[in-house]
Amino acid sequence: MKTKKAGKKRINIITLGCSKNIVDSEVLMGQLKANNLEVYHEGKIDENTSVVINTCGFIDNAKQESIDTILEYSKAKEEGRIAKLYVTGCLSERYKPDLEKEIPNVEEYFGTRDLPQLLKSLGAEYKHELIGERTLTTPNHFAYLKIAEGCDRPCSFCAIPIMRGKHISKPMEEIIKEAQGLARQGTKELILIAQELTYYGFDIYRKRKLADLLRKLNEVEGIDWIRLHYAYPAGFPMDVLDAMKDCDKVCNYIDIPLQHISDKLLKSMRRGITADKTRDLIKTFRKQIPGIAIRTTLILGYPGETNEDFELLKKFITDVQFDRLGVFQYSHEENTHAFQLTDDVPESVKEERVEEIMELQRGISGKLNQLKIGSTQKVLIDRLEGDYYIGRTEHDSPEVDNEVMINANGQYTRVGDFANIRITAAEDYDLIGKLV
Ligand code: SF4
Repeated sequence: MKTKKAGKKRINIITLGCSKNIVDSEVLMGQLKANNLEVYHEGKIDENTSVVINTCGFIDNAKQESIDTILEYSKAKEEGRIAKLYVTGCLSERYKPDLEKEIPNVEEYFGTRDLPQLLKSLGAEYKHELIGERTLTTPNHFAYLKIAEGCDRPCSFCAIPIMRGKHISKPMEEIIKEAQGLARQGTKELILIAQELTYYGFDIYRKRKLADLLRKLNEVEGIDWIRLHYAYPAGFPMDVLDAMKDCDKVCNYIDIPLQHISDKLLKSMRRGITADKTRDLIKTFRKQIPGIAIRTTLILGYPGETNEDFELLKKFITDVQFDRLGVFQYSHEENTHAFQLTDDVPESVKEERVEEIMELQRGISGKLNQLKIGSTQKVLIDRLEGDYYIGRTEHDSPEVDNEVMINANGQYTRVGDFANIRITAAEDYDLIGKLV
């Protein structure tokens, strides 16, 4: 009987969840490549492929997506369409014993800090000398730069500290070395991420060091844009605003999840800030950095959220006119502080409030975009899609914010390049423009 010759072992990485998970997958791929293993990201599978799913365990929807993905590949394994299946990331960190029982057709489940063990199971060894090196899954011209792991904040609704542990800052020299390596690879935009960005340095330097880090990153040759994500409002280090002013590469952009504006809920959420202080902080941002784009995320349907609280939030959004805004529907997460509260807002009401806020924001975004018609924007071209180049201004982060569309007929630019674009039209979220 003719036996099928075993093909070359290949490893396919599937990434779910947030940009921090993307970086973890990229680090894993860099390690596997350095061990001469063939690895790729979210590609085709075959009977010689081992699949690693990097899961998300944040809230209901994300957890369900992770479980569905594990089941999908567990079925593929049963049918011999893949060789082996491994699971890592936040869902696995949080629910390992349950997953091992419920979906046993997986070689092994790993936590969020088990990279060396995962590599060993994949037939590779952890190479310490590779710190800061990884295989990008994003287009080369932008990269996420994770400056810390874990979180020390006590937010009542959040399970992230359960899955990612205590806040651990990366030493500054390691981050600079990583940024220089990325710049040599052609990266022009660094998107700084952490669970809580503004806490950077407090654990290892006994002082908030984000501003110092920005000044150092600003000197890295080849980098044009540095973007800030996941800032925290309470105790916001004001020297960051000075660094944003002084550093020409730091985008006039800040992502700062505020979650809510009702004092009662901010207290119950253990956010450590009041509504007045929140409003003052935004005023200070706009005074110190004129034209800054502010992105925030809000939670709707948190336990005890009344119509009055919801009206407060709507008024806040209308008053502030955020440039970019995202919303989450409250998810009652076991082992969080809020889990002891009664999840008393009906799912249908949560959904209605999410829709109403997004409709309100659509109107605000549309009006703000109209004001950009006739202006010339510096745009980073991300991709060519059909007849259009698609890019972003310094006020837009990949995946979550607005885009600029440039008709490619008769106009030429390159993906990964910056181009000056005169805005000729505007939609609720996206802008349309011409090469200048
Ligand atoms: S800052 Fe709060 S919401 Fe963000 S990861 Fe930490 S605990 Fe969760």
